[in-house]
Amino acid sequence: MSSNEKSVKEVAEDLKSAAADAGKDLKDHAQDALDSARHGAREAADAVQDAVDDVKDSAHAAAGSAKRALKKAKHRLEDEATDPNAFIDDLAARAPELAGLSAPLKQVEGALNMLGLAKRCKARILQASTSEVYGDPMVHPQPETYWGNVNPVGVRSCYDEGKRCAETLFMDYRRMNGVDIRIIRIFNTYGPRMNPNDGRVVSNFIVQALKGEDITIYGTGRQTRSFQYVDDLVEGMVRMMNTEGFSGPVNLGNPVEFTMLELAEKVIEMTGSSSKTVFRPLPLDDPAQRKPDIRLAGEKLGWKPNIPLEKGLEKTIAYFRSIL
Ligand code: UDP
Repeated sequence: MSSNEKSVKEVAEDLKSAAADAGKDLKDHAQDALDSARHGAREAADAVQDAVDDVKDSAHAAAGSAKRALKKAKHRLEDEATDPNAFIDDLAARAPELAGLSAPLKQVEGALNMLGLAKRCKARILQASTSEVYGDPMVHPQPETYWGNVNPVGVRSCYDEGKRCAETLFMDYRRMNGVDIRIIRIFNTYGPRMNPNDGRVVSNFIVQALKGEDITIYGTGRQTRSFQYVDDLVEGMVRMMNTEGFSGPVNLGNPVEFTMLELAEKVIEMTGSSSKTVFRPLPLDDPAQRKPDIRLAGEKLGWKPNIPLEKGLEKTIAYFRSIL
C-alpha cells in the first residue's frame, strides 16, 4: 500500500463524515421545510381568523340594523294601533246566492278574527251590518230597536243570521273586553263599480236595460226597497267612526221607498232602453218591504242621505255604459 493510498479505516472515516454532513443537511432542510410549513399554516390560520372576524362583524352589524328596523316597525305598529285614528272595518259579507252555505261561518269567523285583532291593537272597529238583521220586517219603517223577523232555517238565513251573530259578538267584545266597536246597519246601496253579475236589483236592471235584454222582476214587483247611493253611505260610515261615545247599531239608508216595478220603469226611461219587463218567481223569504228609520243617525251623527235615486242612477248607468 502506497503512502498516497488511504487506508480502509480512513475511507471509512471519510464516508462517515460525509454521511454525517448529508444527514445534517437533510435535517436542516427538513427543519426549514417544517418552519415554513408552520409559518404558512400560521398565516393561513390568521387569514381564516380574519375572515371569521369579518363575518362576525358584518353579522353583528346586520343583526343590529335588523333589530333597529324591527324596533322601528314595532313602534310604528303600536303607534298606529293605539292611535284613535286606527280603524278596522269588518265589511265582509256576501249575498246569499253567491255565498251559499259558507256565509254564516265566514261572517262569524271573520268577525271573531277582526275582534281579536282590534282587542290586541286597541283599535276602533266597525261592523258593517245590514238591514238583513230585520229579516222580513213586521214593523215599518224599521228603527234600530226593532228585533226583526228572521227565519232561522231558510235559504236566506245564512246571510241574516250571519249578520245577527256578528252583531252579538261585537256587543259581547265591547261588554267583556272593552273593545271600541261601531255597528252600522246598511240598507240597499248601489253605485258605480258594482259587479255586473252581482245579482242585485239595481245592477241587474241597468245591465239588462243597456243590453236590450228582458228586465227580470221577481214576484209581483210590488215589494219595496229604499235605495241609498254609495257616497251617502261612505259619509255615514266616516261620521260613525269619528263620533265618540256612540257605538250603534245605527241604520244608514235612504228612506225614500220604491217598488221594484217603479225602479224598472225608471231604469228603462233613463237608459232609453227598449227592454220589456218579465216576471220571475219570487225567491224564498224575500222581504216584502224595507225602509230605514234614520232618526238616530240624524241625532247622533248629524247625517242624512243627500243623493236622490235619479241622480245616483245617472252616475251608475254612466258607469255600466262605460264597461259593457
Ligand atoms: N229583484 C228583482 N229582479 C232582479 C233582482 C232582484 O225583482 O233581477 C228583487 C228581489 O227579489 C228583491 C229586490 O229586488 O225583492 C231587491 O233585491 P236585491 O237582491 O237587490 O236586494 P235585497 O233582496 O238584499 O234587499
